[in-house]
Amino acid sequence: MQVQRLITVSLLLSLSGLMSGCAEPASESALQNDLNNNSCLSADLVLHNTTVYTSNDEQWQTEAVASLDDKIVFVGSNADAKPYMCGNARVLDLAGKTVYAGFTDSHQHIEGVGRRTKTLSLFGIPSLKQTVSSIAEWADTVPDGEWVLGRGWIEREWTDQERFLNKHDVDAFTQNKPLFMPRADGVSALVNSKALALAGVTRDTPDPEGGKFERDPDGTPNGYVLANAMNMFRAIVPQDTDEYLKDSLLRGLQANAAMGWTQTQDAGMPYRIVDLMKDIHREGNMSHRIYAAVPVLEAQEMIKRGRETSADDMFDVRGIKVFIDGTLGSRGAALIENYSDAPHNGFMNRITKEALVPVLHDALRNGIQIQTHVIGDRAVRSLLDWYEEAFTAVPQAQWAQSDLRWRMEHAQVIPPVDQQRFVDLAVLPSMQPSHGIGDLNFAGDRLGAERLEYAYPWQSLVDKGLMILAGSDAPVEVGDPRIEFYAAVARKRLDGTAGDDWHPEQAVSRKTALKMLTIWPAYGAFQDELRGSIEVGKYADFSIFDKDWLSVPEQDILKSENLMTIVGGKITYQKSNVN
Ligand SMILES: [Zn+2]
Repeated sequence: MQVQRLITVSLLLSLSGLMSGCAEPASESALQNDLNNNSCLSADLVLHNTTVYTSNDEQWQTEAVASLDDKIVFVGSNADAKPYMCGNARVLDLAGKTVYAGFTDSHQHIEGVGRRTKTLSLFGIPSLKQTVSSIAEWADTVPDGEWVLGRGWIEREWTDQERFLNKHDVDAFTQNKPLFMPRADGVSALVNSKALALAGVTRDTPDPEGGKFERDPDGTPNGYVLANAMNMFRAIVPQDTDEYLKDSLLRGLQANAAMGWTQTQDAGMPYRIVDLMKDIHREGNMSHRIYAAVPVLEAQEMIKRGRETSADDMFDVRGIKVFIDGTLGSRGAALIENYSDAPHNGFMNRITKEALVPVLHDALRNGIQIQTHVIGDRAVRSLLDWYEEAFTAVPQAQWAQSDLRWRMEHAQVIPPVDQQRFVDLAVLPSMQPSHGIGDLNFAGDRLGAERLEYAYPWQSLVDKGLMILAGSDAPVEVGDPRIEFYAAVARKRLDGTAGDDWHPEQAVSRKTALKMLTIWPAYGAFQDELRGSIEVGKYADFSIFDKDWLSVPEQDILKSENLMTIVGGKITYQKSNVN
């Protein structure tokens, strides 16, 4: 690379010398200036001799891209990129590799992604027995009186028993240590007897509004607690220091950059975290961009502060995150009809309509984006109603902007009649392909065959012209663009198998999947003019992998490796030995 650049420069120098003829001998720096002005087009990074997928329909695939500072200055052929391979440009020959427009995870929780590296992670453990022994080993390292903390257990993936954990699984080895471990979905948790005692929860404690204690036959809470019942334990676990939280954020940023993410969209970032993120931005340590929504509990603060964005678009706080129902796995998602495997239809009382309506109105008047967690068809339909009512109740003349781009997070069960309402109301579905394959094991039981036809209905939504914003919901899922892309196009388990009725027709094309991870999330963050595709004038955000996801066999997508992540022209992750 160095050699090639030197040759180019010296060739140009000699040409320039010839042309200057008998004019006064120019100094070397003047010559260099001359070169920069005339023959060498300014760039500080050139990626060439590769496959570039731009996510731009006008120029879908090309060979080279150049950037200067944080913006793209050239997209095109190797031949046309030549004039940029000079001066101080860093030129990377990426033969055999693939450059994608920088990937965006449309739904993440970065503090949790970083925290996951510091507490017991129960993700991916294949059995109940092994899960309990991992907890026992971890608990053994925790001094008496201190909390045993962890998360990520998920019974539906266990091969021995698929049941929720309860205190009887862990009490024997945690007698003197309270324990709190949220399930992978974060909306239910395991606690032990010590924790129940510290929280003052007994047989006589009623279920809180929007929550539930599972109970033994005699009515005593059994240690599996759902939704708002978790708050009683969150209130008594040791509070996190700023230092601990900031460390989690930095770890999350680095882990995400290593995965190939150039932006994550945070679905519920409290202002305490927002302010720590601002410090990290000031200190120049953001390894990728963040677009954030604050929790609805802090809606008033959001309305007061308004949208906050950094000049370099690395950090943008513009939304409010609302929770309505629970999850399908824990039978907390709000369905119109009863569950097929339980005599109830879930719940959607994590916030009341009365409390939410004024927030929706304020959001319209202040240009704030609403992102609502809706999973069951009852939650989806209700929120479409509430959005629509707000659009009518607040006259358009009072809206801060007509382009709202309000979102529905997850939106897992959408009857066809409501799919059309997303189009009519211009509401964006923000969905997690990995949930679509993770839920494969139980969704049929929960929903029955009829409702399964419109569960995770990706292709149906795309056919209607909707842009799906794809995300991982990490730390609920791994948070890996390979898995999200694979899940969207394969709609099969990671091992390549799928259930009989898993509606393969709802898998999407590879081109669509790429848009779901690039230009469509950019649209969902009002940034489609700034990023999301490889076009001149947009931010130089690239994800570079060793395999071409648009042509390799499905399973090879999962085997590919992230080689380099570039954000605003800066390399934020690089696998060793690449250029
Ligand atoms: Zn989430």
